[in-house]
Amino acid sequence: MRLANKIALITGSGSGIGKSSALLFAKEGAVVLVNDLNEDKGQETVQEITASGGTALFMQADVTHANQVEEMVERIIDQFGRVDILFNNAGISGIGQLHEIEPDDWDRVMTVNIRGVYLPSKYVLPHMMKEKNGSIINMSSCIAEIGLAKRASYSATKGAVLALTKSMQVDYAPYNIRVNALLPGTILTPFVENYLRSSYDDPAEAFEALKTRQLSGDLGRPDDVASAALFLASDESRFMMGSPLYIDGGVVFG
Ligand code: NAD
Repeated sequence: MRLANKIALITGSGSGIGKSSALLFAKEGAVVLVNDLNEDKGQETVQEITASGGTALFMQADVTHANQVEEMVERIIDQFGRVDILFNNAGISGIGQLHEIEPDDWDRVMTVNIRGVYLPSKYVLPHMMKEKNGSIINMSSCIAEIGLAKRASYSATKGAVLALTKSMQVDYAPYNIRVNALLPGTILTPFVENYLRSSYDDPAEAFEALKTRQLSGDLGRPDDVASAALFLASDESRFMMGSPLYIDGGVVFG
């Protein structure tokens, strides 16, 4: 087992990539703390893990609220004593050219996608520093590196997460904490289905166009990203520090 006895907190793991990662981490022996805003979806992830013999607990918290995140981390420390793996996965989409975006919508995307990485990291890091051990995985996106139409706010957040990852790595390397970023291409999850429905008159046609953007000719699956997250979480990636890992069907370099 690649994560035997590891304590792993995954934000936004009630759906999509976070859920696939939670299932895979548990299968590889981790105790998985399933965080999500949505209790029903988070509990579903926990039930699927426990039904297949794994160990998981639901941790409801909004990753943008400092007191909720602090309490969540305290609960984990009280019960398990440490956090070995933090996967900052929770995120939301943002649509529109810059001049069309309302200030409140801009702020919401910044808050969830950047503050939502800052806060769990802020409260988990002192415990990892004490243990002199940890792996943090930050969810960026290939959009941090390529221009895509009508994604101004979202791309700004994912670029920020990539820069933050590198800065964090420099600060926490002396504590044996690794901080790396995932840069997925388009992965078929509820996040992308909602984006297609809300942004296009013909979502089916837009779906076909999305597929051709990737060299692979198809969209990725949540499991494709979960296996990359597992690699970054495990000691197999011990020499990766501050790195972007692309899981994008060739969209960035194609
Ligand atoms: P998803 O919508 O399927 O899952 C996201 C989960 O995060 C949901 O369960 C949601 O309830 C939770 N969440 C949202 N806001 C939260 C908050 N404030 N606090 C706690 N939980 C919250 O999305 P997904 O496609 O699995 O995306 C996961 C991550 O991957 C996001 O950061 C997204 O930006 C990133 N990403 C996705 C794609 C893609 O194509 N799907 C590509 C690149 C990057």
